Order: sequence, then structure tokens, then C-alpha cells
Amino acid sequence: MRASVRLALGARRDTCIDCAKCAKACPALLPVDKLITVRSPECTACLECVTVCPEQGALWLSAGGRRPMPAWVLAAAMAVIFLGIVGYARWTGRWATDIPSQVYDNLIPRAGEFSHRSPFLRTFSLLGASNPVEC
Ligand code: SF4
Ligand code: SF4
Repeated sequence: MRASVRLALGARRDTCIDCAKCAKACPALLPVDKLITVRSPECTACLECVTVCPEQGALWLSAGGRRPMPAWVLAAAMAVIFLGIVGYARWTGRWATDIPSQVYDNLIPRAGEFSHRSPFLRTFSLLGASNPVEC
């Protein structure tokens, strides 16, 4: 299911004040204020645009239909999908690891000490940087 943020024409005409706050808040830099419907794969349905919109009913989340979808429905659907996948994997024996739980018990409290090397720095290192900085 791909959620979409929908700006209905009728609601926009009546309530949108063209403040562009939705576009400024979008972490994906989508021009939300210029679109009737956002159907971009870059939209993560974070709802930042809906949150900052000062006009009630000018911008809402829909699952492809015409009716607005409450944010809790999206959250519940994602939880069901996630738990369903994990439950299925456990039930069918595909969720298995040889790592003992003590390893997790030791590492999880220290999670802040670890970091990932960025792809950029890996490329930089391959190109011959003598002392790449890890971040
Ligand atoms: S839901 Fe998030 S990513 Fe999608 S358009 Fe709104 S602010 Fe951008
Ligand atoms: S934040 Fe709301 S009122 Fe402002 S441009 Fe976007 S949809 Fe219109």
C-alpha cells in the first residue's frame, strides 16, 4: 500500500492560503503546495506537511481514494504489516540467528558508540585518501 498526500482541488480553492509551509516542511523537498496530489516515491508519508498546514482541511492523507485517512490508521497498518512479516518469519522458522542473546544484551546499551561508514567516505577511501574520517 502506498499512501499519498492529497490536496483536493475543492478544499484547496476554499481553504488553502498558498503559504507554502507544507513545501518548506517537506524533508523530501517535494513541491507540496504546487501539487493537487503528491504521488512521489520520495514521499514517506511522514505527514510533516499536514502537521504544519495552518488551514484545516486543505491538506490530508489518503490511501488513494477520495476520503481522508486518519494518521493512526496508517500507523496501525504499518504495525500490522511489520508484525505480520516478523510473525510469519518466526512461524515458518525463517527468523533464526546464531547470535546469542547475551551479545545483544551487551551491545544494545552501547549502541551510541557505533556508527556506519558513509558510502561517500568509502568511495573517497577507494580513490586513495590516506586517512579517511569515519562518521
Ligand atoms: S508526507 Fe512528508 S514526505 Fe510526503 S509530501 Fe508530506 S512532508 Fe513530504
Ligand atoms: S501549508 Fe496548507 S495552506 Fe499553506 S500552501 Fe500548503 S496546503 Fe496550502
